[in-house]
Amino acid sequence: MSDPSETSPPAAAAAAGSDQTRPPPPAPLSRYESQKRRDWNTFRQYLRNQRPPVSLGQCNGGHVLEFMRYLDQFGKTKVHVRGCVFFGRPEPDSACTCPVRQAWGSLDALVGRLRAAYEGSGGAQERNPFADAAIRRYLKEVRETQAKARGIPYRKKKRRKTTETPIGSSAASRRNLSAGL
Ligand SMILES: [Zn+2]
Repeated sequence: MSDPSETSPPAAAAAAGSDQTRPPPPAPLSRYESQKRRDWNTFRQYLRNQRPPVSLGQCNGGHVLEFMRYLDQFGKTKVHVRGCVFFGRPEPDSACTCPVRQAWGSLDALVGRLRAAYEGSGGAQERNPFADAAIRRYLKEVRETQAKARGIPYRKKKRRKTTETPIGSSAASRRNLSAGL
């Protein structure tokens, strides 16, 4: 995600290593952490703005899905509908009236940050609404729809099929694959 050089300063790492029982001293937030905090505040605000307001304890996968659909109005990614002449073509500035959406990659990263933020704020892992199966299905659907509409395959083009691949490099290619998905 963020530049590894700016994650944890040496002082914080040394302090955390010397005494594991105490929480590390406050360190400047990494880009990931500050983005996570912003996303979390946005989501909490969104829940509070519901009629009636939704508490974190009441929050479920359905609220997360509604939140993602709500975010589409702020998206910048044009997703062509079937029938549009640009359907399946990746040109960003197409002169058509197809809707703009949140890009799949942005939603996927957002859900990951919010899932971590939920547990970081004391939410129970087994009740984490961001880990709901419905969210995974929705993200998969968005990925496939956008891949078709924008002509962008969200997967690695070449897949090696050698049986002699060493364990290390096959693990590396799996990582690349999941990062690309
Ligand atoms: Zn279009």
